[in-house]
Amino acid sequence: MRCWSGVNEVAAAVERVRERIAAAAERAGRQAAAARLVAVSKGAPLELMRQALDAGQLDFGENRVPEALAKQGQLGPEVRWHFVGRLQRNKVRPLLDFVGLIHSVDRVELAQEIDRRASGPVEVLVEVNTSGEPHKAGMNPEDLHDLLEDLSGMAGLRVTGLMTMAPRVSSPEEARPFFRRLARMRDDMQKLFPQMPVHHLSMGMSQDYEIAVEEGATLVRVGEAIFGPRVA
Ligand SMILES: *Cc1c(COP(=O)(O)O)cnc(C)c1O
Repeated sequence: MRCWSGVNEVAAAVERVRERIAAAAERAGRQAAAARLVAVSKGAPLELMRQALDAGQLDFGENRVPEALAKQGQLGPEVRWHFVGRLQRNKVRPLLDFVGLIHSVDRVELAQEIDRRASGPVEVLVEVNTSGEPHKAGMNPEDLHDLLEDLSGMAGLRVTGLMTMAPRVSSPEEARPFFRRLARMRDDMQKLFPQMPVHHLSMGMSQDYEIAVEEGATLVRVGEAIFGPRVA
């Protein structure tokens, strides 16, 4: 099912992606450590995730709660779990037992459910639809201010940044304006909500993560470039 055949393919891919992140950071005058790699392991078997772990990769991203739950029971407590997919309210409770960062809060009802179920403050990012594509996940940029205002009063969660997905592009460079837009929104929100630690920019996938790092990404979410092509 996967294109990778050799045992060390995943480790080599992790290494390669890390090098490219470091090079992109350097081009932008940033520290290499300022952009953290989240290996998006949706659909990837545990065996490949263990290879990434052996290569020192500790941050993993999933987009379905049942899959994340099943894998979480099989890997050690050193793994930091990121949730990057559309989240339904009835799936929030089991996720909160182990998730480190939820990247995809895009409506107040979801935030309220997290707030209600959380035992301590849960770290979340607000997902923004920077391209305005109609069926895309993420909230309307115009509504960001009001949402953050609502979220700032919730003790059960802590907004630490913004997340976006660029459209599918034919050349990575075309993704740049969407990353710029998110970075600008983050800067604006930091000014408007000085009491909130809104610093993270979760942006960049296999197709465009180097551009995202050049534009200030603090988290890049890379799947296929590490684990190989997904079968639909
Ligand atoms: C699948 C996914 C990724 C990773 O995409 P690749 O193209 O495999 O790198 C990143 N972010 C989100 C939200 C995803 O669903």
